[in-house]
Amino acid sequence: MKEHFINGKFCPSNSHQFIDVLDPSTGQVIEQISRGDASDVNAAVQSARMALKGEWGNKNAAERSRILMKISETVLFNKEELASIEAKDTGKPIELARKDIETLARYFEYYAGAADKVHGMSIPYLNDYSVVMVRERIGVVGHIIPWNYPAQMLGRTLAPALAMGNASVVKPAEDACLTSLRFLELATEAGLPQGAANIVTGYGHEAGAALSAHPLVEMITFTGSPQAGVQVQKAAAEHYARCVLELGGKSPQIVFEDADLEKALPILVNGLVQNAGQTCSAGTRILVQESIYEKLKSLLADRFNALVCGAPDSSPDCGPIITKAQFGRVKQFIQECYDSKLPKIAEGSINPHAPEGGFYVAPVLFGPVPRDHKLATEEVFGPVLALIPFKDESDAVELANSTDYGLVASIWSENGARQKRVAKQLDAGQVFFNCYGAGGGVELAFGGVRKSGYGREKGFIALEEFSRIKTLVDYHG
Ligand code: NAP
Ligand code: MG
Repeated sequence: MKEHFINGKFCPSNSHQFIDVLDPSTGQVIEQISRGDASDVNAAVQSARMALKGEWGNKNAAERSRILMKISETVLFNKEELASIEAKDTGKPIELARKDIETLARYFEYYAGAADKVHGMSIPYLNDYSVVMVRERIGVVGHIIPWNYPAQMLGRTLAPALAMGNASVVKPAEDACLTSLRFLELATEAGLPQGAANIVTGYGHEAGAALSAHPLVEMITFTGSPQAGVQVQKAAAEHYARCVLELGGKSPQIVFEDADLEKALPILVNGLVQNAGQTCSAGTRILVQESIYEKLKSLLADRFNALVCGAPDSSPDCGPIITKAQFGRVKQFIQECYDSKLPKIAEGSINPHAPEGGFYVAPVLFGPVPRDHKLATEEVFGPVLALIPFKDESDAVELANSTDYGLVASIWSENGARQKRVAKQLDAGQVFFNCYGAGGGVELAFGGVRKSGYGREKGFIALEEFSRIKTLVDYHG
């Protein structure tokens, strides 16, 4: 049974209640976690406040940098253990879990290097004045983390928050929080002062809601569904807390007739299949120029028919869906595609040796998908790909921008001028040319527009989100 991690140690939940943790590859209960409530969240927030007033708050930027670097090294040293926890908890292939742990370490390495390089700015003003703008920590930051990339998402938000000197309270998704608990235990052993980061496990509508509503939490970083994102914003608004929201997408991969299809093919497929389609920035819509529709369709069909879904240790193309509830949602979505007579182009298979009771869904490709079909506009969060034809450049742009989301896009074309022309018109936070990086790139500023959320994480720019400006005006006349 796992307890919360507050003030540098594991401690029981005030509710004394637990939630079962399932292995998605078998459907079996493997662990229990504490069901945190508002009183546990309050204890964690108080612990973070104490840390800011104590040892952690007194660290200078270089000292924080060294601690973050130590954490990064510790994560790499314990990579196999953390990767096997992550694979068991989420069902993702062990190779992908290893990469996720490396990325967690890389986030701490990157922000360790950045922590002492955040310079202020001087502002030219009236004669006899010197004005400088300094960047300061915000205070207590709340982190609400989803289940699709729990380790990566922890690193993505916790490392920059700590680099800027904030103290954190993390509420991981109840479906995948085992890696974060072990991580924080290791980070504490590596020298992270007590209370600098705390974890309260539990349900979103209980612990998550209490965290976003806590009056002493000054910022919330949230990644998850648009619906929960709205709840979080409403709760944060009541106490004027800043939010950064990342709420998913329906990201287009736009393939023009001059694209190098051989080069594109594996990346187009992996942009969707990676993590069984449970990636906010998955390339779930392939928009293809009419003149090459049939050609790309047949190339994609060959690939899709060969895809295998299986258990984490079987080197599958994708693992199971995270929970029974999500599994039900994805299956229902696929059923609705069949019910509406959407043409199926190809379908992968489920490894016959996959354990009974796991939440396996074979990857499936539909097309041509009408533009007003639900599969063309709504997020599935499963391995379902839509192939949609377009006429020309302006039609491609209109189609790409035709959903409520705007997170990532890719443009496949050998024409450089076209790449830039199209990119300028796309509603997206990231645009890739002849490549795709679903979830990748610690260094790359990332975030959405519209229903995909706002704010930017990753890269140096994230330090601006996790800090605030103070202007110092000095009159020396
Ligand atoms: P979700 O409810 O948005 O969960 C994301 C996180 O928010 C979890 O930690 C969740 O806790 C927490 N949460 C839920 N309701 C909350 C509330 N009222 N206040 C504060 N925190 C709250 O997502 P889900 O139900 O797991 O998945 C549903 C759909 O969300 C998916 O099908 C997918 O479309 C989307 N999704 C997107 C992403 C992404 O990366 N953008 C990630 C996950 C899901 P608990 O899980 O413990 O309840
Ligand atoms: Mg789990």
